[in-house]
Amino acid sequence: MTSYAQPYAYSRGELVEPDWRRFPGWASVTDEEWRSAQWQRSHCVKNIKQLRELLGDLVEERFYADLERDQRERATMSMLVPPQMMNTMVSHEVPAGPGSLTDGFYADPLRRYMIPVFSDRRTDWPSHPYSSRDSLHEHDMWVAEGLTHRYPTKVLAELLPTCPQYCGHCTRMDLVGNSTPAVEKLKFDLKPVDRLDSMMRYLREHPEVRDVVVSGGDVANMPWARLEDFISRLLEIENIRDIRLATKALAGLPQHWLQPDVVEGVGRVARTARSRGVSLAIHTHVNHANSVTPLVAEAARAMLDAGVRDVRNQGVLLDGVNADSHTLLDLCFSLLDGAQIMPYYFYMCDMIPASEHWRVSVAEAQRLQHDMMGYLPGFATPRILCDVPFVGKRWVHQLADYDRERGISSWTKNYRTSIEATDPEALTRTYSYYDPIHTLPEPGQRWWAEQFSKGALQADRPLVHAG
Ligand code: SF4
Repeated sequence: MTSYAQPYAYSRGELVEPDWRRFPGWASVTDEEWRSAQWQRSHCVKNIKQLRELLGDLVEERFYADLERDQRERATMSMLVPPQMMNTMVSHEVPAGPGSLTDGFYADPLRRYMIPVFSDRRTDWPSHPYSSRDSLHEHDMWVAEGLTHRYPTKVLAELLPTCPQYCGHCTRMDLVGNSTPAVEKLKFDLKPVDRLDSMMRYLREHPEVRDVVVSGGDVANMPWARLEDFISRLLEIENIRDIRLATKALAGLPQHWLQPDVVEGVGRVARTARSRGVSLAIHTHVNHANSVTPLVAEAARAMLDAGVRDVRNQGVLLDGVNADSHTLLDLCFSLLDGAQIMPYYFYMCDMIPASEHWRVSVAEAQRLQHDMMGYLPGFATPRILCDVPFVGKRWVHQLADYDRERGISSWTKNYRTSIEATDPEALTRTYSYYDPIHTLPEPGQRWWAEQFSKGALQADRPLVHAG
């Protein structure tokens, strides 16, 4: 009898810390320096000159020119890559002279979202006509500066607008990071202390809120004493039962979370949380198995040992990076087996400007969800989510209607956001989400091009359509 192989073959792999000394710029960096959060922060790659100093001539000049053009014309995020993340790029290639890493660097999944270049992006529709800077309307739903109240029982607290690393696809590109030639960033108005006080005031006055996502930016950029003070104040509010600390740095700069004062501080707030029956968890953001190294596992272990209830991963589904069921499963098993990090969500990349090359259609996301089912334990099988503007997170199979030709899906919701208290139609209206136009069948693509040439779209940005 013929026996057929499983579509996905599970095998348990050992985590590896790639040797950073393969890069000319870090040839003499010691283990001790590498483990230092301070060394990592002061050696981030922030511009093309520093990238060139690190890689030397291992990458051809055309790559740097491609990057320079992207930064001038398209980038919505400025460049900031910690050594830890840089070291997970082209980690399986052996440098072999001038230009030898060029192709590998172009193809690298981490590079594709941390250091995007012009030739990565679509030139027909770089942005969807309905893309926008604050595509989730978080800013519109601020109930205090930086505090988004979108769902009935939970809020998002954006404590600060910076991160130790900047991801090219950042959904908060409106606010987070430094301005780029294409995007002038918004600035908080209030002083940090006043902003955090006004958040606390709102949370005390709204007992229906039980769950706070403490985010930014990335909480790893907040001095620990100030973050501990904020968490401690949250723990004094009786209605707050869940606190989640959002930090991509657990994977991007695990050295931060391994600092003794940070580990001790996490231990203190975790003990208080536990004694009060509050769940304190860490949510990180890992998009590819190459990011899961022994240092990342060590940082996750340190957090669990310090007493946080869980470390969970919320990745982003990105074409060219991980939009493939085997790549997603490899990542989930690396997280789960290697680092005790719980796979939780994969968000579809949001409809921000210049992101079309990363986005996939809802149909593709549904297929990926289907193909991932059954391999991981149920509790560790991540849901793929579509964050629908004015709605919020929906599982990708939850849509109400779907025009596959034009790539327009319709969604409903079962709660009011903070801006809909007086809207009688909030729960009966349908809300639209749009597939990337280049993924549509030819008649659908033609329809969008016609709408564009008739001026029927809101397209007011040079990044939208070049066809
Ligand atoms: S870590 Fe999060 S907030 Fe910071 S740039 Fe990346 S996606 Fe944006």
